[in-house]
Amino acid sequence: MGCSKQSPVARRFSWERTADVDRLRYLAQPLLSGEEITLSHHARYAHDLTPNDFEPPFDGIVEDVVQKGYVLHESLSDYMRPQWKQRSLEILIVDDPSLNACVTYDDGRDQVSIFRGAFEHIYGTILGLLSTPAFFPAIGNAEAEMPFPNLPREGFARVPVLRDASNRDPDTPVRFPNDQTRMTVAQILADLALEFLVYHEIGHIVGGHLEILQGNQRLASISEFEQAIDNPADYAFRHVLECDADAFACHVTSGVHTNDKMAALVRDLVNASKWHSKDFALLTYLMAIGILFRVLHPHATANISESKSSHPHPAVRACLVASSTVARAVFAGAITWSRVNDIMKDSVRNIEDVWAGLFLPGHNPEPPELWAQHVGSTAMGLFRSYGNARALLDRYARLPRRWDDWKWPETSSSV
Ligand SMILES: [Zn+2]
Repeated sequence: MGCSKQSPVARRFSWERTADVDRLRYLAQPLLSGEEITLSHHARYAHDLTPNDFEPPFDGIVEDVVQKGYVLHESLSDYMRPQWKQRSLEILIVDDPSLNACVTYDDGRDQVSIFRGAFEHIYGTILGLLSTPAFFPAIGNAEAEMPFPNLPREGFARVPVLRDASNRDPDTPVRFPNDQTRMTVAQILADLALEFLVYHEIGHIVGGHLEILQGNQRLASISEFEQAIDNPADYAFRHVLECDADAFACHVTSGVHTNDKMAALVRDLVNASKWHSKDFALLTYLMAIGILFRVLHPHATANISESKSSHPHPAVRACLVASSTVARAVFAGAITWSRVNDIMKDSVRNIEDVWAGLFLPGHNPEPPELWAQHVGSTAMGLFRSYGNARALLDRYARLPRRWDDWKWPETSSSV
């Protein structure tokens, strides 16, 4: 920090990034029955962009995301089925402003590509939301934030992340929270969202989804950029694959973020002493993932059941991940059912309300109760399809599917 070449935008980021180092250390533990992972750092970056192309603190953020992906993938190699043990992975940061991430394979190795635009959109939206008093009002001093009347139709401005100033758009100012605590929470949420995104991509790979989709094509790929699909059987199956990749990412990240040490660390970082640390950890986790899905699907249809796209509706994905995470936390004794409703209301429900209040892309046009019903019933339908596909998913997965443990009662499906 303190680099004189920093832009005014970069100077707004002033936190210490200690929490991330700890999270990296605890990475993948829940997936591997509590075994300690030995970290080994690899200097084998082969990005289209390198961390050096990014302005601080994004250089460190990009490096963390890539490193986490490599560490997780390496730690799983012992558990892979024999034919996949030696398979290598390449994580690329693509110099493209689109909001996308994708997986493919090339020349005998797998590739995860995260587009530069994903960083820009995720940061822009999360900072923008925290600068809105109606969003997460219980954290920091929300009254210090100013309501704003005119958002561009496409939503919050992207945060410029590259050192190269020619990529910046001077006409669309980035919105930052005024309150420093809310600024810090924005950082935590954005880090979590990016972490979830890279593990979601790795979930597609280790879930064997590329092999499932390969069929007669020589090259298969899965992109997070939503595509319209005409055949209901095809999009229903793609939804199952997305659900499986979400389950993988959720399995890896939710336990890490809500374990005792991380929960206490995150709560102390933002002085949220009025919260139980586990409740606060769960709340921030659900916020981060819920926003990520909303950001990834700017063109979500208003009518959930009419969605004919490659991905489930973002509110449905959030509902499933939230239900799974909450169920795990309850079964582990970390929280009680009596707190669950409040946490769901303060997280996924708050996102949907703010999204609608600001008329952000793909917002809910229905009364909140009706919307919650539609989200809940569609989520249950997807959950059942996911369960029905278990035999196929088990057959193709490159390692035993330990992440498929979505045991939760139907009562937890409301948002
Ligand atoms: Zn996906």
